Amino acid sequence: MAVDPLIELHDVNKYYGDLHVLKDINLTVGRGEVVVVIGPSGSGKSTLCRTVNRLETIQSGTIRLDGQPLPEEGKALAGLRAEVGMVFQAFNLFAHKTVLQNVSLAQMKVRSRKRPDADRRSRELLERVGLADHADKLPAQLSGGQQQRVAIARALAMDPKALLFDEPTSALDPEMITEVLEVMQQLARDGMTMVVVTHEMGFARSAANRVVFMDGGRVVEDRTPEDFFSDPESERAKDFLSKIL
Ligand code: ADP
Ligand code: MG
Repeated sequence: MAVDPLIELHDVNKYYGDLHVLKDINLTVGRGEVVVVIGPSGSGKSTLCRTVNRLETIQSGTIRLDGQPLPEEGKALAGLRAEVGMVFQAFNLFAHKTVLQNVSLAQMKVRSRKRPDADRRSRELLERVGLADHADKLPAQLSGGQQQRVAIARALAMDPKALLFDEPTSALDPEMITEVLEVMQQLARDGMTMVVVTHEMGFARSAANRVVFMDGGRVVEDRTPEDFFSDPESERAKDFLSKIL
């Protein structure tokens, strides 16, 4: 269904020592698509994300971004990390830098933008995630939901081709989950290509083009949310859904 593939994994295998964590993964994410990845703890979801921006190496198979194999090292690798932004469960903001500085720093370093240009772009993005009034605060002065929105603005500031989210709301109090999901919904509507590991099934239903269910290092199902939620094919997915819903 993905007519214009942006991220392509072909027969990807990944081991940690003897532990086979990704098994013959074939997955294509089309430009503008939102793919939600779900599955039990330890099924390889985080590892999958980490291999796509090459925080982890793979032992066999190929991963392509926009038709090109992932770069191995050096400047090209830093470029890849900018093109495939990642948002983690822990926000990883610099505690002693302001919100504005947090969003501007990598733009200056990786994109070689001058500070005024970087700051201008940062303010645009802070506005977009609803934090225009918080630019001069330190992360600790913000709620968890606000900090995660700063992390999203920071990833967007690199003008990424795609964003990977690894359980972006799992560390948040329930009342803050919605504000982060709403920002992600808006990004999806704006056409951002996104891979989202999440337990938020409401988000999967409303924003995902496809749901990928992983278990034991394999992609067990890869279907539309309508099909997946109304009629999961595998026993493992049925079992997983009965526990989570
Ligand atoms: P998930 O995100 O679905 O919970 P992970 O990708 O984190 O799963 O982990 C998949 C498997 O790989 C698990 O068995 C986990 O214990 C193992 N694993 C993850 N990271 C490492 C690592 N750095 N070294 C060794 N084993 C790891
Ligand atoms: Mg994980």
